[in-house]
Amino acid sequence: MSDKEPPSPFDEIQKQLKELFKDSNVKISAHGFPEGGPFSDEQEEIVNEPEAASDGGKSAEALENIRNFKLKPKEIRDHLNRFVIRQDEAKKVLSVAICDHYNHVRATLMGKREETTEYSKQNILLLGPTGVGKTYLMKNLARLIGVPFVKADATKFSETGYVGSDVEDLVRDLVKAADGDIELAEKGIIFVDEIDKIASEGSAGGRDVSGRGVQINLLKLMEETEVNLFSPSDMMAQMQAVMEIQRGGKPKRKSINTKNILFIVSGAFDKLAESIKKRLSQSEMGFGANVSEAKEDISSYLQHTETSDFIKYGFEPEFIGRVPVRCACSALSAKDLAHILTTSEGSVLHQYRDDFRGYGIDFKITPEAIMSIAETASKERTGARGIMTVMERLLRDYKFELPSTAIKHFEVTTEMIADPSNCLKALKEKNAHLQSTVWENDVKRYGAAFEKACGFTLEFKPLAVETLISEASELDQTIQSICEEKFKDFGHGLTIINRNTGQTVFKLGKLAIENPDKELSKWVVRSIKCVKESS
Ligand code: ADP
Repeated sequence: MSDKEPPSPFDEIQKQLKELFKDSNVKISAHGFPEGGPFSDEQEEIVNEPEAASDGGKSAEALENIRNFKLKPKEIRDHLNRFVIRQDEAKKVLSVAICDHYNHVRATLMGKREETTEYSKQNILLLGPTGVGKTYLMKNLARLIGVPFVKADATKFSETGYVGSDVEDLVRDLVKAADGDIELAEKGIIFVDEIDKIASEGSAGGRDVSGRGVQINLLKLMEETEVNLFSPSDMMAQMQAVMEIQRGGKPKRKSINTKNILFIVSGAFDKLAESIKKRLSQSEMGFGANVSEAKEDISSYLQHTETSDFIKYGFEPEFIGRVPVRCACSALSAKDLAHILTTSEGSVLHQYRDDFRGYGIDFKITPEAIMSIAETASKERTGARGIMTVMERLLRDYKFELPSTAIKHFEVTTEMIADPSNCLKALKEKNAHLQSTVWENDVKRYGAAFEKACGFTLEFKPLAVETLISEASELDQTIQSICEEKFKDFGHGLTIINRNTGQTVFKLGKLAIENPDKELSKWVVRSIKCVKESS
């Protein structure tokens, strides 16, 4: 074995860069990268602008909206009410925090607030079970204000960034979400879920990750820090930046400041809820009467969390201290889920309606069916996410089957929920008399596509259509796939015939469907004979 190290991919890239820049006036540094690039020894504040934000107009408009931010907490709450059911306390807390934050950002942008003025950012901690709207609240807020939004699970980060991602990637992702506009990204929102999993106690799950280290790194971001736009491990980004040096252009910053980025952290904190339950049941403060009402919903104890509970749970005091705004979201009952289905503007029911409308199909749903879906979804114990699971299970076959039928309307009832596949069968049988029209249209569609691709007209005789339809229903295959298989050599064969006879229109009878290759050969032979006879 040779004791020489094998060349690394970096060596190859550097070699290519040297080749690329050999005729230009860009100097290659000792690292093999162009001087002034992201690996430059000189720590300049700017590098050459790669390109303007991909949607500069939109970003400028978003920044203008922040400069004109005038919303009041109740207006924000009302907006959230259109999408999010319940979570009134969270709506209140978030509306106030958002208004304070963006009022501050506006004042800074307008130069009305001295850089030296003390401002404590209102980073937010949302507690509560999964699927109750924690992320959804923040997404809707970010959309309302027009700022970029990024979400990630805390469990994917590691202290060093070697095992998992680096927390700084969150900030870089925010720049991507802002279409490359750094100024806009600096006013964005970062949402870190599963934060309870990085409490040092909870992180002893065997991963080579120190929860404490991740907390400290996150803390730095929450405070104020400059994050390099290029991750040291992102070779592609480094390469792109280097290439862009050659293109020239406006100077561009190479780091992003996190001072005005709003951080929301969230988690289910189920173990914490249990320990608070214990604490409360032992205390003589009189909470007992209240909490015993919420017997099975353990998450309801989270509203009694105190800073000391978080520290005991495994959070660094500095970390939890930087998240001063805390709010517990409540679990959703079956009634809440029904309410989400019928009234939320973001209800999955709208999505399903749109999906079916894509095929010209409409459906009705009875109030009893709504309640039945909500009750089943509630048993999933995944909050509102359970609705999607139940709807998907219920409508999966309908979505698959109905677009290929003549059925344009159906109804979701409790009977259908109890036995979706038999109801679908009955629905199809009831509409069977309309099915031949759909298949006839499919045959016409195939003929038109064939003509477009090959330039020849296929005229299917009534018996041919009938044979195709009966094969399609027998094999449970589409007319399209049956025709593609049967007539795969027709493009070539008909071209030969056309060359011999000039024929462009071909009539297909029952025989051409039953044995297409034999029929085609017969036609080709006949056309050759035709040529011979005429010469
Ligand atoms: P989590 O609380 O785990 O962050 P999400 O906010 O991501 O859960 O909720 C998942 C989906 O469920 C949302 O995209 C939304 O469609 C729906 N949803 C959850 N909670 C609510 C709610 N309170 N009101 C309306 N829809 C909700």
